[in-house]
Amino acid sequence: MRTAPDRRAFLRTGGLAALALGAQGAPALGATAGMTGRDTTGAVSGPRPADWRALADGLAGKVIRPGDASYDSARRLFNPTFDAVRPAGVAYCANPSDVAECVGFARRLNVPLAVRSGGHSYAGWSTGTGLVLDVSRMSKVSHAAGRARVGAGAKLIDVYDRLAASGVSIPAGTCATVGVSGLALGGGIGVVSRKYGLTCDVMESVQLVTADGQLLTCDANRNADLYWASRGGGGGNLGVAVSFEFRTHPAREVTVFFLHWPWSKAVRALRAWQAWGPSAPDALWSGMHLSRDGGTDVQVVGLYLGGRADCERLLDRLADAAGSPSSSYVRQTSYRQAMLTMAGCGSLSVAQCHLGGSLPGQTRGGRLSRDTFTAKSHMAYRPLSEAGAGALVAQVARPGNHTVLLDALGGAVARVRPDATAFPHRTALYSVQYYAHRAGAATWARTAHAAMRPHFGDHAYVNYTDPELGGWRTAYYGANATRLAQIKAARDPGRLFRLPQGI
Ligand SMILES: Cc1cc2nc3c(=O)[nH]c(=O)nc-3n(C[C@H](O)[C@H](O)[C@H](O)COP(=O)(O)OP(=O)(O)OC[C@H]3O[C@@H](n4cnc5c(N)ncnc54)[C@H](O)[C@@H]3O)c2cc1C
Repeated sequence: MRTAPDRRAFLRTGGLAALALGAQGAPALGATAGMTGRDTTGAVSGPRPADWRALADGLAGKVIRPGDASYDSARRLFNPTFDAVRPAGVAYCANPSDVAECVGFARRLNVPLAVRSGGHSYAGWSTGTGLVLDVSRMSKVSHAAGRARVGAGAKLIDVYDRLAASGVSIPAGTCATVGVSGLALGGGIGVVSRKYGLTCDVMESVQLVTADGQLLTCDANRNADLYWASRGGGGGNLGVAVSFEFRTHPAREVTVFFLHWPWSKAVRALRAWQAWGPSAPDALWSGMHLSRDGGTDVQVVGLYLGGRADCERLLDRLADAAGSPSSSYVRQTSYRQAMLTMAGCGSLSVAQCHLGGSLPGQTRGGRLSRDTFTAKSHMAYRPLSEAGAGALVAQVARPGNHTVLLDALGGAVARVRPDATAFPHRTALYSVQYYAHRAGAATWARTAHAAMRPHFGDHAYVNYTDPELGGWRTAYYGANATRLAQIKAARDPGRLFRLPQGI
């Protein structure tokens, strides 16, 4: 029996060891562009100090600029790899009209614009050298009649915590500090997705400030093109989300589990898990982690929407095929506590389960730290053969500090048509993430990803943004790429929202 299981610590094992910035592939948008731009006549334009002052004066929120005491904290993302990027200003918008002001400022003065919620972009695309528009102050969470209204800057642990007070929740990811915007706009895989769908599947509406500064409500009847694209098309492409309305589900007692096998059983456990996890009853979600970080480890983590005894009966089926685990932790608990545990905050309060600091989105007592990592992804549309499983295990066994995370899909995720939302991977069995720390991380991720391509093919998850990915348009969006490009052309013809992998 193990104590204090910690899914987040699993991802955090690399601490803050810095990776070489150049090892991350393409630089962040704006990292090579100047602060000023050129208008259509070729004239150089750009904001003067007076323009920045006017922007600050016009906002209910705050603009932080180089030289301000909090500038170095305000400009940082979750991944310290991008710490060298120095925005000209970071605007903490307090409301949608602040957002419209910032969008107008960027458009008029040709300032590169980066939108930020939780700051977890794998590619660093929520910062740049121009204006960073941060939505963290808009983080209110409320609930009524089966619907949650969630401000675009809410962090996941706060969403879980505030909705738990009403006995409800929404399907979302495991990382406490991820922002609801980046997650939901790109899809949102979570520990109840097999029962309730992706985060984007329960999105009833989203309010967006578009490139022309309008505040639009997008749902099945109004601005349906933007609504469709906002459910899996990826953040930073079509406008600035300021709030979401999500369908909620009841949040009762659940059972969490963490099982381990010795490395010598890795291939057998992997083959057993992939036959079990994606086809288990919808109430059971699981992920497999194969890691080498100091030692090697095979772990299955998961959550069952029900009691311990029923959960254990399902776990027995996995053990029948995989062999008995060498250790196991199975505990029935409240939904809220389960989300803290999955976030690696099992022994912390909600206030502690944040990044420390006094900026919006942080708490003074926050105990979580940032993480230097590099990652790549696949989406597995068919199970790995014996040879494929052996190849994956061999990649993990190579020297380094890394984990391959397989997150089960199927269930409710698979009951949505691939073209019903912009998220196309409805028939995938599980997502695959190659997540590495410290020296050699980027090389390991590249090599492992390339070695597994013959087995997994070319599908990838847009929320595990990979600036090096060839054929990214099809890999992220499949057949939905064409419709996304048409919506982009109609809604942002001037490409104010410009990402290196922009739709
Ligand atoms: C430790 C860790 C754990 C994770 N766990 C999960 C998981 O369990 N499930 C899962 O599906 N994903 C997971 N992810 C991936 C996560 O979903 C993406 O990194 C997501 O894009 C992060 O959103 P953010 O708001 O925190 O990041 P940001 O960097 O702020 O934003 C990500 C992208 O969205 C854009 N964006 C941000 N806010 C807005 C807005 N208001 N309007 C429009 N565009 C916006 C940004 O410009 C950027 O391009 C994890 C990531 C990490 C680092």
